[in-house]
Amino acid sequence: MMGRGGMTTTSKTKAVGQRAVVIGASIGGLAAAAAAAPFFESVVVLERDRAPTDTSHRPGTPQSRHAHALLVGGLMALDALMPGFEAGLVAEGAVLLRSNIDFRGERMGYDPFPQRDVGMRSRALSRPAIDRAAWKCLTSSFPNVEFRDGCRVTHLVPSPDGSAVAAVRYQRDGKDETLASDLVVDASGRGAPTVGFLQEAGFPAPEEEIIGVDQGYASCLFEIPGDAPSDWKSVLTFGAPPNDSRGGLLMPIEGNRWIVSLGGRHGQAPPGDLEGYLAFAQSMRTQTIYQAIRGAKPEGGVVRYGFRENAWRHFERLERFPRGLIPLGDAVCRFNPVYGQGMSVAAQEAHLLKRLLSDIAAGRADLIGLSKSYFAGVPELIETPWNVANFDFVFPGTRGQPPADLAFRLQFSAALIKLVAEDPAVHKLNSEVQHLVKRRSAYRDEGVIQRVMEVLNSARPAVPAE
Ligand SMILES: Cc1cc2nc3c(=O)[nH]c(=O)nc-3n(C[C@H](O)[C@H](O)[C@H](O)COP(=O)(O)OP(=O)(O)OC[C@H]3O[C@@H](n4cnc5c(N)ncnc54)[C@H](O)[C@@H]3O)c2cc1C
Repeated sequence: MMGRGGMTTTSKTKAVGQRAVVIGASIGGLAAAAAAAPFFESVVVLERDRAPTDTSHRPGTPQSRHAHALLVGGLMALDALMPGFEAGLVAEGAVLLRSNIDFRGERMGYDPFPQRDVGMRSRALSRPAIDRAAWKCLTSSFPNVEFRDGCRVTHLVPSPDGSAVAAVRYQRDGKDETLASDLVVDASGRGAPTVGFLQEAGFPAPEEEIIGVDQGYASCLFEIPGDAPSDWKSVLTFGAPPNDSRGGLLMPIEGNRWIVSLGGRHGQAPPGDLEGYLAFAQSMRTQTIYQAIRGAKPEGGVVRYGFRENAWRHFERLERFPRGLIPLGDAVCRFNPVYGQGMSVAAQEAHLLKRLLSDIAAGRADLIGLSKSYFAGVPELIETPWNVANFDFVFPGTRGQPPADLAFRLQFSAALIKLVAEDPAVHKLNSEVQHLVKRRSAYRDEGVIQRVMEVLNSARPAVPAE
C-alpha cells in the first residue's frame, strides 16, 4: 500500500507522509515528534539552540531555571506518547508526590488546605531533567526522529498554489537551507514562523485573547536540610487577593534539592539578590516557605523572569488556514506559570495530533483536513486551564476582558473550595480538574452543583478564590 508521499507503508502503521518537520526541541516539540513519528518516514526536529541531551539550562528555554510542576494530565499524555517516559523521570531522580498528601496548599481561609491522599501521583524534578527524559525516551523509541541543532527557522515556504506549507527554510552556520515537508509542527514557543507565514502568504491572523498579569518571578535552589519538615514535600502559598498577589512554590527536585519560585503581579515582584529574595519570602502571607529556606544552603544565585500575559491565539476561529501546518504548545496558548499548565497542555495537544494522524493512517480522514480537526479539538484542551487564568482578574491591574459573569464565577469557586476542603470525594474531583485529568465540565455534575449552591445560599464565602 502506498502512503501520500509515495512510499511503502509498514504493516504496523500506514504512513501518512514522507517527512514531518518540528520546529523547536522543547517539551511541545518533543511531544509533537513522538506524535508524528509512527506516521511519517522521518521526523526532523529543527532547534535554533540544541536538543536537551543533558540537564544544563538551554538559552532557548530560559524559563527552565524556575519551578516546573508537571501535572498528572501532562504526565499521562507524555507517557502515552512515549512509553517509558515516567520511568525515565524516575531514572532522572524525580521525587514522587502523592496528591494531595505530600503537598501543603496555603490559601486565604485555609492555612493549610486539608492534606488528603486523593489517589493521584505526580513526579517532581527540574525542567531540564523533564526535557532530557523526554528526549531520551523519544530517541530510544523512534529511530526515525532526527534532531538538527543550531537551525533557526526563518520562513515557511508555500506550495505553488499558496494554499499549503510545503517546506521549511532555516539558517545553520549562516547558510540558508530548505527542507520539504508534508507536515510542519510549529512548537517554537512564540509561534513566529506560523504568524510570519500567515502574514506573508495573505492568510488572516488569529484573534488573540490576552489576560495581562505582569508576573515577576525569582527562583533559587536550596539543598534540602536534614531537619526539613516531614509533613509535606512541596508547598504552594497564595497571596491575599485582591491587594497582595505575592506567593511561592517550593518543590523538591532531583539531587536532594528544593527549587523555590517566588512571585508577584503588577509590580509586586521579588528582587534578584538573595537577601532581598529571603526578605520577600518572609513578607509573604504565611511563613512556611521562609521558615523552610531561611537556614537552608542555597545553590547558585537567584534568577528572575518576567511573564507579561496569558495569550490564546484562536486559530479555531479562522476561516482559512494553510494545509500542512500545526501550531502547538505556547505557540497556541501561553498560561500564567503560577498554575503550572503549559507543559501539560502542549503534551495533550500532541496527544490529540497523534489521534488525528492515526485516523488518517487508518483511512478515516485525510491530511488535507488535519488542521481543521486539530483546531476543532484544541479549545476543549485549553478551556479548562484558561478558565483558571480568568481568576487573575481578581487582582486590579490585570489587563484584558474579564468574563461577564466573573463575580458569580468567583463566588462559585469560593463555595466549591469550601466543599473541596470538607469532602474527600469533591477534593478528588477538584484535583483531577486542576491536574487536567478531567475537564471543568465535570463540575456540572448535578450533585456537585446542588451542594455548591447550598454553600452559596447558606453563607456567602467571603474569601475570594485565586
Ligand atoms: C517562569 C515560568 C515557569 C513555568 N512553570 C511551569 C510549570 O510549573 N508547569 C508547566 O507545565 N509549565 C510551566 N511553564 C510554562 C512552560 O515553560 C511552557 O508552557 C512550555 O515550555 C511550552 O513548551 P513549548 O515547546 O511550546 O515552547 P518553549 O518551551 O518556549 O520552547 C520553544 C523551543 O523552540 C525553539 N525555537 C524558537 N524559535 C525557533 C526557531 N525560529 N527555529 C528553531 N527553533 C526555535 C526554542 O529554542 C525552544 O527550544 C512556565 C513558564 C515560565 C515562563
